[in-house]
Parts: sequence; C-alpha cells; structure tokens
Amino acid sequence: MIDAGHGGHDPGAISKDRKLYEKNVVLDLALMLGDKIKKAYPDVKVIYTRDKDIFIPLYERADIANKNHADLFISIHCNSVNNTKPSGFETYVMGMDHNAANMEVCKRENSVILLEDDYTARYQGFDPNDSESYIMFNLMQNAHFEQSLIFAELCQNSMKGGPVVKNRGIKQGALVVLWRSTMPSVLVEVGFISNPQDMAALASKDKRQQIAGELFNAFEKFKEQYELSGDVEEENIPETAPEEPAQPVAEPAEPESPLPSSAEQDTFFAVQVFAISKSLKPDDPVFKGAEDVRKFNAGKVFKYTVGTFKTEEEAAAAALKLSSDFPGCFVVKLDNSGIKKK
Ligand SMILES: [Zn+2]
Repeated sequence: MIDAGHGGHDPGAISKDRKLYEKNVVLDLALMLGDKIKKAYPDVKVIYTRDKDIFIPLYERADIANKNHADLFISIHCNSVNNTKPSGFETYVMGMDHNAANMEVCKRENSVILLEDDYTARYQGFDPNDSESYIMFNLMQNAHFEQSLIFAELCQNSMKGGPVVKNRGIKQGALVVLWRSTMPSVLVEVGFISNPQDMAALASKDKRQQIAGELFNAFEKFKEQYELSGDVEEENIPETAPEEPAQPVAEPAEPESPLPSSAEQDTFFAVQVFAISKSLKPDDPVFKGAEDVRKFNAGKVFKYTVGTFKTEEEAAAAALKLSSDFPGCFVVKLDNSGIKKK
C-alpha cells in the first residue's frame, strides 16, 4: 500500500517560492515507487491511496490498507519548518516515545484532519494541535511495531545514498495515518521542502527517481525477509539484542486441561497482541483482562502474547475474537525458550 500524503485542497508543505508542493512531489514518488515494484514483481499487488491529485481523509487511508489486507503500508511525505537550516530524511513508526521535534512533525501531518468534515466525531475529540490531546494514543496497540521498525531501518539505510544527504534516523510519533493500520507501516519524510539543498533534490525528476529507487530497494529487502521466514526474521530488528527466554510476567491461570509436559510437546500457541517499546504489567488495563499475558523482551521491543492454546486452530479462533480489541493480532508458536520462528 503506497500512500502519497495530502492531495486536492490540501497541498501539504509548500516551498518558499511557492513553486513546489509536497502533494505533487510525494504523488510523483509514490507512482515511481509503484511502477518499480510492478515491473520487478508482477505478482505483487500495488495499491495507492491516491494516484491523482485528490483529497483523501487520513482515516480513509488506513481503512483502504486494512480492507485490502495490505502486507505493508508506506506513507510518503516531505518535511518543512520555518527555518531553512534543517535538512534530511527520517522515517516514522507509530509510537509514543517522541520528543518535541517529533511532536511538531506529528502535529503538522495530523493537522490535515482539520480539513476533513466532521473530524471531531471521527477522531474522538482528538485535537491535532494540542499536545495534551495526544494522550489518547498512549494505549495505542500495534502488533506490528517491530516489523515497522525493520522496514523503517531499511528505508533509512537505503536513502543514505542521497540525493537528500542528512540521515535523521528513525523516529516514533503518534501519526493518525498510521494509527489504525493493521500491518507494518511507516511514514517517510524524504526531505525538507524548506531547505534549499533538499528542495533542489525534490524538485528534480531524476533525483526523485533516485529516491523512489531507494524506497524500492528497502521494499525489496523487506519482501525477501518477509518471504523467507513467513514473518520478518527477529535477528533483523534494528539495534536490538537477541531475544531472551520466555519470562511469563504472571503465573498463568490453572489451565482446564494441563499442557502436555513431555519435551516434544512443550510447544504451544498464543496470540501476539502487540509489540511496543514499553514494559507493561500483565494486569495493565491495556490487556483488557486477557488471560495468560506473557512478555518477551526482544531488545528495544517488548512483545506481548495472551492465551495458551494446544493447537494453532484454537489460537486462530481466539485471535479472531481478540482482533476487535487488538487489531492485527496474530498467532505465534511458543516454547520454553520464547517465541519460535514459524
Ligand atoms: Zn506531509
């Protein structure tokens, strides 16, 4: 799913000379990226939130991705500040671990909802310009946080080749466009329209091709990993230590039929409800009273699973029920050493 930011009556950031509009730059990049993917992988279904200059509300963008069961969501944007100095590219994943600078980016990108009809009802009273309002994202649940981080890392590494020079790294932010998506999702800020060097790169068709090529390379690497393992290899989580053994945070409730205890049958199934950078207690309200909450430490990320199931089918049935509370939750295989690769 390729999402070109803004569009229609929402121009996004505009260059000082008013010649370059974010909405046009990112649409061009989105279409270039889509073309490259289609050419290299005719079997991959590329979907755009928009392929022309039209306005699409933020909530609809994630909806389109969810309805199409997209495997990956990339939202493309340009940065802008009231200062010509800041430059470079950065990639956002949905998260609450953000500083003042990230908050400014989130406010700017989220403020698009003010152009939508009926936004107060739609976003539960959320005010994109009020920092206090962001508290509502605190209980944000995203089962795909670590895959999003992996893809963000691939995008950042790939864009190191220029033409936008400065690598500003991976950031977390409460971005409405990523909030409701139920697949690995990132928002890439490819460069600053407010910076003369970045702007020159973004204005050049050739350099846009180069940036689209870099995003394509990131996609290609992600696809390889994704297909190799059926899921993304945990070894590739950026800057994280190897996974530690399973450490149930609470003694699981007495199961009705005890789990088989022979070594061979020590594997069982659970539902991964989310993975976030925060350590939580099993009775945290975020788990909504789910049973057998387990926490797995994978470096920067804590993964949380609920339930204990003997068969994958039972776990899948539970995951289906849980998905209304935990969008994007999925079945994992566990044993005494932790989450097993599929
Ligand atoms: Zn934008």
